[in-house]
Amino acid sequence: MSLVRPVRAVILGAPGAGKGTVLSKLIKRFDDHLTAISSGDLLRHQIKQNPKSEIAFIVSQGGLISDEVMINMIFDRFRELGYLTKSSKSWLLDGFPRNISQAKALDLRLNQSNLGLNLVIELDVPHEVILNRIRNRWIHAPSGRIYSLDYNPPKVEGIDDITGERLTKRPDDNVEVFARRLQLYNKLCDPMKQYYKEKGLLETVSGETSDIIFPKLLELIKNKYT
Ligand code: AMP
Repeated sequence: MSLVRPVRAVILGAPGAGKGTVLSKLIKRFDDHLTAISSGDLLRHQIKQNPKSEIAFIVSQGGLISDEVMINMIFDRFRELGYLTKSSKSWLLDGFPRNISQAKALDLRLNQSNLGLNLVIELDVPHEVILNRIRNRWIHAPSGRIYSLDYNPPKVEGIDDITGERLTKRPDDNVEVFARRLQLYNKLCDPMKQYYKEKGLLETVSGETSDIIFPKLLELIKNKYT
């Protein structure tokens, strides 16, 4: 599917809201016409090249990288990809901006190239739904197989179907820790949403699962850009 005008968008979504899933589906639908730039992926790429860096340490602790480092990293990537022109390919930012000062810095830097965002999409999944999903997720660590007590439970409770070994929780699937991450997300995201709302850029796509959210997201992009 092609686009009649370039998408310059930001996608916001709480951890566990299924942003990765819906984004990869969306990119597939638009083939080569739309690219997602993920701040987490850019950082992980840098960390691979320099595993002992300060960035590697901060990310391993779940901290936030400074706004200045982040904005420079994003714009270096924009330049590399030739995205700072009016006729550039369509792009969607994922994971950046993460707070109001990054949002303002992004606008400022885009304005310097006479560009502006034309859409901010918020994926809205109730926090209780996200927490339930975490609560019900079990893994077989050696193979990476994932089970959900909701929709693909193991044949025998707590046991991997294939090897008969015990299932465990992922270290970051701790409900209390996750609930705190969600709270922090809201605290940083709410002012940003307000900022984009006042600019008339914010669109909210609500639903409990990716299967519900994806068609709505696709419709939104089609209506605005095709
Ligand atoms: P993600 O894949 O988006 O969850 O990002 C992984 C990690 O990279 C985060 O836990 C942060 O440590 C760091 N990170 C990603 N994006 C940003 C950002 N916009 N600002 C600061 N730190 C970030």
